Order: sequence, then structure tokens, then C-alpha cells
Amino acid sequence: MSFKKPTELLRQANAAIKTKTGFAPFGAERPRHTDTMEFLAASVLIGYKKRPGEDYPTDAMKAAALQGAKTAQKAIAKANDILFKVSALRQDEPAILTQVLESHFGLTSNATDLGDGLLSSNKKNKSFALTDLGKHDRRWVIEKIRQRFLHLSFHLNTGVYLIDLDVSNRTTQGKQAFSAADNQHTEANVFGYTGSNSRSCGFRNGEIHINFAATQTYSSLSYARIIIHEAVHKYLEIADLEYSVTESDGSIENHSAYAHDDVYHSQSLQYRLINADCYAWAAVSLYAGRVLMGSTAAYNPDWTQASK
Ligand SMILES: [Zn+2]
Repeated sequence: MSFKKPTELLRQANAAIKTKTGFAPFGAERPRHTDTMEFLAASVLIGYKKRPGEDYPTDAMKAAALQGAKTAQKAIAKANDILFKVSALRQDEPAILTQVLESHFGLTSNATDLGDGLLSSNKKNKSFALTDLGKHDRRWVIEKIRQRFLHLSFHLNTGVYLIDLDVSNRTTQGKQAFSAADNQHTEANVFGYTGSNSRSCGFRNGEIHINFAATQTYSSLSYARIIIHEAVHKYLEIADLEYSVTESDGSIENHSAYAHDDVYHSQSLQYRLINADCYAWAAVSLYAGRVLMGSTAAYNPDWTQASK
């Protein structure tokens, strides 16, 4: 079922008022790229710009978005379950969690690894003691990640709304110009997100935009990783990390710290906890039961074709 986007109806109504009266109601001038919404399932809604006479978005794009969204919903719920059993039910860490903490949060299972001083103890499967309450120990890390996964699971399992980035046709995003040339390689974004790492309601951020054309061949799990990454921006206000690195010529360059960047592996726990990509790759790894990792050298399999 597809229908005209409510904001598009409002914009058209406002434009009609302006034509008749010469008076422009609030919001009438704001350009909107997409005009149509469509439910792919009860909890998966997409938005796109209709192309009259064309079969767009294609069935392949819709199928990829639907499966990606459903997988994101399942993956984040499963990841939360795995952490819940350890942090609340006090079961021993399963091997996959130990591996994910090391590869995506930089915390080894070595008791002397205190996360660059962030922790007072890193003892694995430590028995419960009241004196540990409020302490920054290994279980505190697990609980912190679990709370964030639970928050994401609540939102994603209530409903996923994905808007087509439509790179080759879009000319605006929000009130800003959108350049197709600059965004050919953009998988997804959350427009309006300021990267402040501040707490506020996710609805004040923009929606999750996905490059339907570029991601239609991704596996469901790789697609899910992208959705979860953007959901971390939208709902948790957690940014993409950048590092200032002094180059050999003395210049200072900003390096991003996505999973496919070298610097990802040298970040300390403190920074992993405020890096969106760490949560996204951790969630899909926990769901898959093995560590998945981004790599520039090999886009496949995990980048685009991770499988469970
Ligand atoms: Zn990001």
C-alpha cells in the first residue's frame, strides 16, 4: 500500500494557499524530495519519490529494504538478549560476547586490561558483590551496551521507517543542497543529526535515509548493520568518531574511525562507547554468532555480504 506523504499533502495545500492569497504559510517553501510512503510490512515503512511511468523503487530495492529492516529488528533484539543474560541474570559470558567486546569495544578478557584506566576491574564472570555496585567493572561495560541495545530494540521493533536517499535525483536534503557527486558512495545517513553526543529525543533528529540503489544487493545482515548504525545516531545521539592525526609533514588531518579504518582497532574503550559503528558491528556479530568486521581491503564478505 502506498500513499502520498502527509508532509507533501501539507506542502501542496500550503502552495495552493500561496497561489490564491499570495501569503506563504509556514513551511510552504521548504523543498521536499520524497512524496510517497509505502508499508512493506506492518512495522516497515519506506519513503521515496515516485517516478511516474517508472517502476521505482524496484521490487529488488523494496525486498532488500524489507529483509534488511526485519533482520535489524531481530538482530538488535537477540544482541540485547545475549547481554541481558550476562548483566541481569548473571550467566557466564558466551564466547561470542567475549570476542565482540575485544574486537568492537577494544576490551580484552585479560583481567589487567582496565580499558585505559576507565575500569577498576575487568574480571570476567566475576561473582556478584554489593560492594561492586556503582563501580566501573566489566559488567558495567556490558550493562551500558545492553541498555543502549534495549533502547534501539524498542524503537526498531516498534517500527522502522527508511527514506530513499535517491542519490542520483535528490537535489535537497532538509534545507540544504544535496550533491549527487558528493554522495555517490553514501550508503545511508540521518539528516539533521548534529553529532553532538548529547541526550535528546530521537524524533528531533531526521529520519534514516538509505541509498536504496546502492544497497539493494547487500545481504540482509549487512543491510541490517547499516540500519542499526543510523539508528544509533538517531535514537542514541552517538556520533561517528573522528581523530585528529598529525601527519609526517606536520599537517593535522581528521581520520574517521569506522570499522574499516585502521584507527578503529586502536581506539580505547572510552571512545568505542561513543562510536556508532562499534554498536552496529557488535550487534550484527552477536546475532551472527561470529565476529564480523569492516575492511577496506575486502568489502566482501562482511561489508556487503555478511551472512548468519
Ligand atoms: Zn554514521
